[in-house]
Amino acid sequence: MATVTLRNVRKSFGKTDVIHGVDLEIADGEFIVIVGPSGCGKSTLLRMVAGLETVTSGEVEIGGRLVNKVEPMDRDIAMVFQNYALYPHMTVFDNMAYGLKIAKVPKSEIEDRVATAAKLLQLEEYLKRRPRELSGGQRQRVAMGRAIVRKPAVFLFDEPLSNLDAKLRVQMRLEIKALQRELGVTALYVTHDQVEAMTLADRMVVMNGGVADQVGKPLDVYADPRTEFVAGFIGSPP
Ligand code: ADP
Ligand code: MG
Repeated sequence: MATVTLRNVRKSFGKTDVIHGVDLEIADGEFIVIVGPSGCGKSTLLRMVAGLETVTSGEVEIGGRLVNKVEPMDRDIAMVFQNYALYPHMTVFDNMAYGLKIAKVPKSEIEDRVATAAKLLQLEEYLKRRPRELSGGQRQRVAMGRAIVRKPAVFLFDEPLSNLDAKLRVQMRLEIKALQRELGVTALYVTHDQVEAMTLADRMVVMNGGVADQVGKPLDVYADPRTEFVAGFIGSPP
């Protein structure tokens, strides 16, 4: 089970309160998009689910298990970042295999998992290349491959497409959605792009200054914005 639950989650950096008590229940297999302007706390919220930031107060559960004190590697999640963070000196194969080698997964199993991911992502012909020999879209696929091979129940995306040009962004968006459906994983996806949120989300969370202003299906939020901010941000009158 890959439900994700946040209960009154708060985050402060020193004396600055950044997340002011967020509650969210994500169903198994759901695609949730957290959308909001720069600085509203989207990445911080995602990083607390990933375990890359501690929770100041409140609870984070993944698959019904309280994970507040669980290390990122043991959380059944994988994260895809905006800048890919690929290792430039490693081949595509090694980039995808790296986390599995660290986790001491047997070699034959690593080869199987990388082959399966490469097939899903149409990277079979590129496994021996280095990142600089790939297009932007292919690099983004390698970053996703690295997440897929770990077989996590929950995928976390932090603005994964913002470095791509507009056309590729639309194409990769569709690929991410198709992949999520095919793998049956739960997805938590952060973006500042309203169109991306409307297209991808089963439900979207509109964030405003560390608060989840509204949570709902894209068309419901669009048709019935609960605050001035949501109305302005999603673009329909209140
Ligand atoms: P978003 O991803 O929505 O752009 P962030 O979650 O990155 O927003 O940041 C939310 C707020 O928290 C910002 O004001 C940012 O400056 C602050 N912040 C984020 N990380 C830290 C940190 N490590 N130390 C201090 N302040 C931080
Ligand atoms: Mg961010």
